[in-house]
Amino acid sequence: MKPMQKIGCFICFVLILFPGCSAPIPSRSEFVLGTVCSISLYDRGRQSVYRKIFDRLREIENLMSANIEDSDLGRINRAAGIEAVAAHPDTIMVLKRAIRFAELSGGAFDPSIGPLVKLWGIGSDAGRIPEEHEIAGVLPLVNWKDIVIDEAASTVFLKQPGMGLDLGAIAKGYAADEAVRIIRAAGIKRALIDLGGNILAYGSKRDRRPWRVGIQNPVEGRGAYFGIAEVENKTVVTSGVYERFFESDGKRYHHILSTRDGYPVDQGLLSVTIIGHSSMDADALSTSLFALGYERGSILLESLDDNTVAIFVFADLSVRGTSGAFEQFTLTDEDFKIMSKILR
Ligand code: ADP
Ligand code: MG
Repeated sequence: MKPMQKIGCFICFVLILFPGCSAPIPSRSEFVLGTVCSISLYDRGRQSVYRKIFDRLREIENLMSANIEDSDLGRINRAAGIEAVAAHPDTIMVLKRAIRFAELSGGAFDPSIGPLVKLWGIGSDAGRIPEEHEIAGVLPLVNWKDIVIDEAASTVFLKQPGMGLDLGAIAKGYAADEAVRIIRAAGIKRALIDLGGNILAYGSKRDRRPWRVGIQNPVEGRGAYFGIAEVENKTVVTSGVYERFFESDGKRYHHILSTRDGYPVDQGLLSVTIIGHSSMDADALSTSLFALGYERGSILLESLDDNTVAIFVFADLSVRGTSGAFEQFTLTDEDFKIMSKILR
């Protein structure tokens, strides 16, 4: 590891760089939402607020995890093809947002990806390459148009037996937004939220200097970064091939799956980073753009017109960004190269 390539060290470094920012009470990390979640509260940070935040994260997990039997998703999935199931309004809101990104991405992002995720088992002990006939068997079950939401009744129905929801690509973003809601209500002005690499930098520095967030180097171990985003009150979310994967015969099988062919997406990308305002949207977008690839992904992003930017890292370590991306992002690792936009 090169010196100063640990994000952990880096955040300490940030604090030392900006002594105008009062010291936080120690940050708190817990394993929730399938990952290590770390929160650092500054100024009026206190234990009771940490407790509230982690309680809320656990609540979200208990509603939206597909791996918890009694969660909303667990119950909806078991009743697929049978009946509509009551779900919490928060679950319905996140699912509706996920469906919006399914629409925008032409189905490359699809919250009904559950059966395919289960089949591959990437990131679990059951990870394996499925047989082609198994993939062909579950692909017709992946179809967001077969999700029926009745908002008045607060229910969800999956039309086909065997269908299954998976909100793994959006729930952490929602959870980060919820953490900020609690932080704001507690009167805290600055905080760093890191939900397994979904970063939300809340507030700005007292001296008006932005937070500096290291962006994961997709070819090195966790914590190594290849560039820095300078942000205030923004979220920085990355989807990449390094997050969850297994290897077989020297080939890597990562966890973002193509709804078209059922295999890990191969768009020549190692990662996509989104810098934006809503962490829920940025989370859905990082997965959507990774699945769509550079050309279609940047068209989708530019069509949103909400100051969100994306940074794409290609297999040859070249880096491309959407309009305005490099005003917020600086490359720090010389193995990577920023390329100009491909003109269409
Ligand atoms: P991470 O969870 O590692 O931060 P993502 O936000 O990109 O990464 O989410 C990846 C997760 O989303 C997968 O583990 C799986 O549960 C789910 N997923 C995989 N492929 C898709 C897809 N095409 N559309 C929607 N969700 C997906
Ligand atoms: Mg995502």
